Amino acid sequence: MRKNNVELIWSIGELSGLFEKRTNMGGFLQDVVDRIAGHMESDVCSIYLYDEEADVLVLRATRGLNPESVGKVHLQIGEGISGSALKELRPIREAHASKSPYFKAVPDIGEEQYESFLAVPIKRGLNRIGVMSLQHHRPDFFDVQDARAIQAIASQLAATLENVEILMEIHAGHTETDRQVSQEDIRVFVGRSASDGVALGTSVSFGVRGEELPVQPDMGDADSGCTGENRDEELRRFHQSLSATQSQLESLQVAIESDYADVASLIFSSHLLMLKDEQFSGEMVREIESGCTAKQAVIKVVNHYVQLFSQSKNARVQEKTQDVKDLGHRLVTNLSGDADVEGDYRGQIILAADVFPSELVRIAAQHAEGLVLKDGGVTAHIAILSRSLGLPVVLCKDARLFAVADGTRLLLDGYEGTVYVEPEESVLARFQQNLDRSDGRGVKKEIPETSHTRDNQRVHLLANINIFHDARIAQENRAEGIGLYRSEFPFIVQNTFPTEEEQYRIYRSVIESMNGRPVTLRTVDIGGDKLAPQSGVVETNPFLGFRGIRFCLDRPEIFRDQLRALLRAGLDADLRIMLPMVSSVDEYIAAKGHLQDCSRELTAEGIAHNATPQLGAMVELPSAVEISHALAKAADFLSIGTNDLVMYTLGVDRTNERVGHMYKPYHPAVLRSLRRVCEAGRQARCPVSICGDAAGDEAMILFLLGIGMRTFSVEPRQLPRIKEMIPQLSIRDARTFARKLLTFDRIDQIERFLSRHGYSA
Ligand code: PEP
Ligand code: MG
Repeated sequence: MRKNNVELIWSIGELSGLFEKRTNMGGFLQDVVDRIAGHMESDVCSIYLYDEEADVLVLRATRGLNPESVGKVHLQIGEGISGSALKELRPIREAHASKSPYFKAVPDIGEEQYESFLAVPIKRGLNRIGVMSLQHHRPDFFDVQDARAIQAIASQLAATLENVEILMEIHAGHTETDRQVSQEDIRVFVGRSASDGVALGTSVSFGVRGEELPVQPDMGDADSGCTGENRDEELRRFHQSLSATQSQLESLQVAIESDYADVASLIFSSHLLMLKDEQFSGEMVREIESGCTAKQAVIKVVNHYVQLFSQSKNARVQEKTQDVKDLGHRLVTNLSGDADVEGDYRGQIILAADVFPSELVRIAAQHAEGLVLKDGGVTAHIAILSRSLGLPVVLCKDARLFAVADGTRLLLDGYEGTVYVEPEESVLARFQQNLDRSDGRGVKKEIPETSHTRDNQRVHLLANINIFHDARIAQENRAEGIGLYRSEFPFIVQNTFPTEEEQYRIYRSVIESMNGRPVTLRTVDIGGDKLAPQSGVVETNPFLGFRGIRFCLDRPEIFRDQLRALLRAGLDADLRIMLPMVSSVDEYIAAKGHLQDCSRELTAEGIAHNATPQLGAMVELPSAVEISHALAKAADFLSIGTNDLVMYTLGVDRTNERVGHMYKPYHPAVLRSLRRVCEAGRQARCPVSICGDAAGDEAMILFLLGIGMRTFSVEPRQLPRIKEMIPQLSIRDARTFARKLLTFDRIDQIERFLSRHGYSA
């Protein structure tokens, strides 16, 4: 008999005693994999253990794979065959691993030649402990008996592994809570992606670039006292640095205005204002006159302001803390007289607990390569804005990453949500292609203007625009129009309500950039996770609070400024205005009343405007789905916002790490809601489109085509991919696919069905 499973189970039981003789857990695990591989005549046996804190599987021992990968290969739950075995808590046996829908090639571990795969979860009760994976070069090598044997071993090993872990801790003389992991041990941090892209650079903690500003005002400059001997010289250097800083900021402001017109004005205004503020620079002058060096004076005054601002209870004042640190750094850098130093973030990856939207725009404008944010409280608009700014962002909750020394080399993979510390050459080589096309766009292929399915059905592909910069990418990628302009970003970033005139200019540039193609401008959607501090609203449950159309109807003076600006900007254009978070026909009618009033007012004032825009409602609440027949009769068009619809239908906040995994656009309730809205639109002859992130998902596109959706609005960078995909699909197949998906009552049936069709759910 080629495998002696009974003997194997017995000998694993014996292994439990071995660990006490071992000085490290790695050695014990190596004994286990060696013994199992031998008994099973398996080419490979590996053990992955689940790191609960980082929510990731880590390869801890292997016989057969590259031993260098131990400790370095990380799999997300649900990633690859091993990750899926742990996610689904069942053994997965594949005769041809490379053809398995679960399969994911892990580079550099040397598993290409192994066709058979058997992955068995190691668990205790509901606790996930890890996965044991066997591989063999011959296809279909493992049978059901093998799976059972390994399951039995895994359950025996589970208790042992738990004990081993505890014992190892005691042997090592410390407990879990005070365990210090040296920085050398951690090379890869697995987090979540917030914005795509790959970046390489040196780490910098936000606000303390290069040379740290001492935290205590009295720490001063250690290498020289406040002697005051060269007072005149110090004053001259200070004024020189002041004017260099001012001209740098002014040219930065001009440079970014062409790209980020709508959110860039005022981005450096508080820096410039502070520079000119007599109290700020005057205090520095006084410090120099009383004996400080120029550098000491800057540090002292900046720190004083940092303390003042950071202790304020007012969010708007707190927001200035970073501005003043930024400014302090720039002044100090300019004092050093190094002409090459721009005082920006070129070549750097920023590590920050949190950033304000205005800081995000500034970071991008100052050429940061990437950003790592502390996972937890990052709101949707930060992620949306980073994507528009083309800034790769990873969210990570592991505090150890934020403790790396400034200047540490980092590689940030914004696709997978991973950060590599001091990456090795092999890792760099893997990402070289992405790094070479760091503008994220790569070589351009010819992109068609219009799209048709294989069976010649016309599909309209439009773009979602968050800031003006996106409109340019939409143009380049031949969007047929704008399906969603999120007008709240100028409000959020500038931290103030722009005037009618300011808004008019922004909307007009967006409309003109589309050369007559349809432009759908959404009225401001602040509140919820898109917080605008100037609204002065603090709520215990903002998602169920004062947001979207509710905010606008309650604040008609703000709403009407925007409607007037929209109507004026839409003159001679195919203007569509869209209302967010509509929960009733009544709200739609009230908003329409304001729009008509504004048009009448403008006519009375003799101001040219578009008097006949289409007015649509977003369907992003279950209530709107339920009344979609009535909404479709009242509105000129409907647009489904799946980002919110999924959240409200399932009662899941996707930024909440405890329940984020339950946020599933493929939930049967969501699929049925989508069908329902499409059907309501068809019956009322009301156009229905979709503009949530689901509109860019391959399987979802097929489903949506199958239920009759023909207009999709997606992030402009996704257009080339989707335009390439549409001609390969047929409506006939899409209908069959959708019909089948709609028969399932359970999420796991849907996920298995999607997997079988090569889609990851
Ligand atoms: C949505 O909810 O799907 C949507 C498009 O709106 P936003 O993402 O701006 O909330
Ligand atoms: Mg929404």
